[in-house]
Amino acid sequence: MKRRGQNTSALFSFQKFSYLYFMQPVIIIHHHEITLKGNNRKWFEQKLLKNVRTALGELVPHSAITGGYGRFVIQLQSESKSELIIERLKYVFGLSNICIGVKVEQDIDAFTNASLDLLKDEQFKTIRVTTRRADKNFPIGSMEMNAKVGAAICEKFNVRANLTGPDETIFIEIADKVAYVYRAKVQGAGGLPSSISGKVVSLISAGFDSPVASWQMMKRGVTTVFVHFHSMPYTSQNSIDQVKQIVELLTKYQFKSKLYLVPFADVQNEIVLKTPMPLRVILYRRLMVRIAEAIAFKEKAEGLVTGEAVGQVASQTLRNIRNIDNAATLPILRPISGNDKEETMVIARKIGTYDISKEPYDDCCSFLAPRKPETWSNFHEIEVAEANLDIPTLIALAMEKQTIEQFSFPQSA
Ligand code: ATP
Ligand code: MG
Repeated sequence: MKRRGQNTSALFSFQKFSYLYFMQPVIIIHHHEITLKGNNRKWFEQKLLKNVRTALGELVPHSAITGGYGRFVIQLQSESKSELIIERLKYVFGLSNICIGVKVEQDIDAFTNASLDLLKDEQFKTIRVTTRRADKNFPIGSMEMNAKVGAAICEKFNVRANLTGPDETIFIEIADKVAYVYRAKVQGAGGLPSSISGKVVSLISAGFDSPVASWQMMKRGVTTVFVHFHSMPYTSQNSIDQVKQIVELLTKYQFKSKLYLVPFADVQNEIVLKTPMPLRVILYRRLMVRIAEAIAFKEKAEGLVTGEAVGQVASQTLRNIRNIDNAATLPILRPISGNDKEETMVIARKIGTYDISKEPYDDCCSFLAPRKPETWSNFHEIEVAEANLDIPTLIALAMEKQTIEQFSFPQSA
């Protein structure tokens, strides 16, 4: 805690707002996609506020997080937890940036002192000061304020003003009776607030693609339920353990997750015994999609998600995608279908799933995979092959044998 400057105008402010004698540390977070209007915007903000409160769990009392005007203010009792709080906020979808600063009285010396203090450990050559005057009663105009506080910063740190592309920006926000002075610290996760857009069921493997596809849907505010198919005991436990680690990581973005683990070896055995070899992978996928859809109906989800990308492997030609798609009645969303592998890898590295997916694992689809898979499947041939399978029973058995794992973050969520 720091005392503000002791000159006459500051003393006057102190008498007026004695309860604000100290600067109070705050974190200010700005909303993303605030182009929303009317009731939608209100709903968006309420959801986002609830999510921020959940994310910060035990770290900050709910009453210390307040909002309005496209941003929320988190009042801290001390600066000690701020890094931990920022770390949690990085996972909250719907935030554009996370700023650190102080709440001060409405006083130009307090603004200057706060700005100098916020910048004292930073390396920068250029600065901009941006003032927003929500309280129009404050006697100094925004431009004048920018110039005055900016000049004090330039003199103290021997830097230059740059209004177009500065190294650092100080924001001064004159609100109702108080003011906030802050600087941008880290970029937020963007997107829409978690759980604002309904629910999907994501088919997730331990590979690179489906975790990224799931994350992309979560970023659009979609609650994601995960389904993983495994061929235990014919394959090792690896894929399950890796998928659990991936879901645990992704849960930071939506606070609670459900992972359905579905034994798939019996289905695969039936397909191997009763259908032509080149169609195996397509038929595996069509069964996966049907089982995932049964889970989606149970979960009241609106669609399915996969990590397929056009042309990436033999099973992902446009024709095969079409023939996998028509096994489901719900839409199958494929958020990375137009990505190059490298584009997906960049996201996997950014969100941290890369390090888990790069470890070797047994994929259920490489178990009993054909040497020459069909690359341009014919729907009539698929129908003929599937006539040999008792599909409703295979789905019912898988639904019966599946297990469910629950994840939550933070623990209090
Ligand atoms: P990924 O990296 O996501 O495994 P991929 O490029 O390896 O994708 P495939 O193995 O052909 O492609 O799988 C295509 C999609 O099918 C995956 O993105 C995923 O959505 C789904 N999928 C594949 N294997 C499984 C599995 N064992 N359990 C659940 N879904 C799976
Ligand atoms: Mg795969």
